[in-house]
Amino acid sequence: MSQTPPSNSPKPANSPKPANSADILSSFDSLPLRGEILAAAKALGYTVMTPVQSQSLPTLIEGRDLIAQAKTGSGKTAAFAISLLNRLDETQYHTQALIVCPTRELAEQVAEEIRRLARGIPNVKTLTLCGGRPMGPQLASLKRAPHIVVGTPGRLLKHLEKQTLKINKVETLVLDEADRMLGMGFIEDIDDIDDYLPTTRQTLLFSATYPDEIAQLSANFQTDPVDIRIESDAPNAQIEESFYEVDRVDRLQVILRLLALHKPESTLIFCNQKHQCEQLKDDLWEEKLHASALHGDMEQYERDRTLIQFSNKSTSILVATDVAARGLDINELDLVINFELSADPEVHVHRVGRTGRAGRAGVAASLVMRSEENRLAAINNYRRTSHETLSPDILPAWGNVKLYPPMVTLSIGGGKRDKLRPGDLLGALTASKEIDGISIGKINVLDKITYVALAQESAKTALALLNEGKIKGKRYQARRLR
Ligand code: ADP
Ligand code: MG
Repeated sequence: MSQTPPSNSPKPANSPKPANSADILSSFDSLPLRGEILAAAKALGYTVMTPVQSQSLPTLIEGRDLIAQAKTGSGKTAAFAISLLNRLDETQYHTQALIVCPTRELAEQVAEEIRRLARGIPNVKTLTLCGGRPMGPQLASLKRAPHIVVGTPGRLLKHLEKQTLKINKVETLVLDEADRMLGMGFIEDIDDIDDYLPTTRQTLLFSATYPDEIAQLSANFQTDPVDIRIESDAPNAQIEESFYEVDRVDRLQVILRLLALHKPESTLIFCNQKHQCEQLKDDLWEEKLHASALHGDMEQYERDRTLIQFSNKSTSILVATDVAARGLDINELDLVINFELSADPEVHVHRVGRTGRAGRAGVAASLVMRSEENRLAAINNYRRTSHETLSPDILPAWGNVKLYPPMVTLSIGGGKRDKLRPGDLLGALTASKEIDGISIGKINVLDKITYVALAQESAKTALALLNEGKIKGKRYQARRLR
């Protein structure tokens, strides 16, 4: 989904903390991997393997089945991506790896990670096949079989039934976020997909949690799998967590005071209900805060736009339901707030785990109404912690705190269909030297539309340049998103 312009790459290095001393400083170089893959990992700033990577990769490279549980943000994608790329024969044009994901966002993130790691291997074709997208372009892309397919169950089945996708020579099957797929009722679809797969293959199951049904899923689809579970206590220890006792009517005020305390650049607020997300977003706008809501009732294009604005830092606050936020790879979250506690302690652990990812320190704060105290008790019981509620009186007043997002998003009415690339936008913006490359943030080229993030102070100049000039000889309309 996202393309980073050359000025911003390589990606900033995240250095995840190893979970225990046995994992310290295991570098990818110690593994028998293709040089192109090692080079790509290095270019991405992956110097040290995360625990799930160091514990799974030797097994994966051997070709054995694997079931791995590790918390969100622990680097599971790169673990399977590296292994399947290492097995790939790019000179053979048939589909060799299939990754099944619960949501389109996740599928696109997985495909991006695979493409980044495959950068050094020429001509590797990775295709995403997800619902909510037109069939036409997918059919066109399938005319020549992609090496790697990443998709959501329903759309994959559709292509299998139409025989536009052939997976009878797949060597690696990955079920990513398997717990989530079970929760969304995809089990029958996966069963049906299995009918099209060869019986001899490597099957990998990745999951953030380990409900009983996972064991059943594994028994149905895997042969003698290696089982890896990474304790999640260590990474979570870096999160500073607090709970505030609140009355229903004071909740907005307490959120504002939390923002005043932490002055975060990016905040994710969880609500249990869609309508609550919308309401809170509107309330935050009233306070002149740049907030967006993310939930399942939105059109796909709105979800894309919202996520892009949040990840490129032109929205400071995202108010989301658990389902909408699940599996999103948004790094650098400064603050997670629970507007309401979840009734499920495991969900709470996931929410809080969104901050402090890949070894960064994070902050999480939860509002607790008297009626929710039993939920806090359940969370304490589940994690064996003893958090008590604090009085919000200890928080600073909201007052005149100014919290503007550092960036602004401009949209341009052209995209991949017009053969636009991030470099074209970068060129159009920097050619006259009125705008410096460092003022330009993420560039996301979608099918029919492109989003470019600009530092606030350069946005006006950029808008004028784009509207008055041409990109690759053609005029496009640009506008500033609010
Ligand atoms: P998971 O699937 O376990 O939730 P991801 O695969 O999405 O986690 O990885 C989370 C983040 O960590 C990504 O931004 C990824 O680029 C980064 N990452 C993965 N492996 C490494 C590594 N070895 N070193 C540094 N960062 C890594
Ligand atoms: Mg993942």
